[in-house]
Amino acid sequence: MRTTAPSNRSRLRRKYERGRYDKESLYEILDSCLLAHVGYVLDGAPVVTPTLYWREGDHIYWHGSSASRMLRKSAGCEVCLTVSELDGLVLARSGMHHSVNYRSAMLFGTARKVTRREDKIERMRIFVEQMFPGRWEQLREINEQEVKATTILGMPIDEAAAKVRTGGPVDDEEDYGHPVWAGVIPFVPKTPGEPVPDDRQDPGTALPDHVRNYRVAREVS
Ligand SMILES: Cc1cc2nc3c(=O)[nH]c(=O)nc-3n(C[C@H](O)[C@H](O)[C@H](O)COP(=O)(O)OP(=O)(O)OC[C@H]3O[C@@H](n4cnc5c(N)ncnc54)[C@H](O)[C@@H]3O)c2cc1C
Repeated sequence: MRTTAPSNRSRLRRKYERGRYDKESLYEILDSCLLAHVGYVLDGAPVVTPTLYWREGDHIYWHGSSASRMLRKSAGCEVCLTVSELDGLVLARSGMHHSVNYRSAMLFGTARKVTRREDKIERMRIFVEQMFPGRWEQLREINEQEVKATTILGMPIDEAAAKVRTGGPVDDEEDYGHPVWAGVIPFVPKTPGEPVPDDRQDPGTALPDHVRNYRVAREVS
């Protein structure tokens, strides 16, 4: 499926022209960010928790300590997961038309626990490998206690929308002659800094490619 069908709740009403439902646009946003916010209802009230996530094909996953309230209480429940990146501040000629440039995605679904031991390990392997190719093999092998102590939730990406704003201010026609600076303050995309070796590491330990390349890959993207 190349598009996510806009359901009633995933169809944009406000600024609907900024909406995207094709999977290419959606996945581009999901793959360029690391941080999501997972919203769910706990005891009748909304809770929103920031967390890392990763995408595998048409599924999205997030994980954490098995003791996490978010992971315990949202398993098997309806969730709304959002991802967003702020790309710039848009200064218009009136306060009303100031805006921001952004890319965002909002996904709805039922969060399902990954239960099989082998599936959990595979999800964790892919999570690590997507960020740092080649690292999983170099790590100390995961042990049973660590597998048990980790909960992974996931859901298919089949009810989602993306929303994107780009470009300059859109002012009222009669305001374009107003003598105030208008335009965009772009935000430089997040770039990783110089890697900092751990204090307790053997100083002779070589910088692996997946650390060096991570910097390069992120800088050029
Ligand atoms: C970084 C950033 C900053 C923003 N700042 C503001 C702000 O200050 N004020 C403001 O009003 N809005 C802001 N927005 C836009 C905001 O996210 C909403 O799109 C907007 O408020 C309309 O909300 P709504 O509930 O009326 O949308 P509706 O159009 O009623 O939403 C219907 C459906 O459209 C989809 N949808 C709506 N918004 C988004 C989205 N952002 N991304 C993906 N799918 C979406 C969802 O599926 C949602 O269920 C910002 C967005 C981003 C990413």
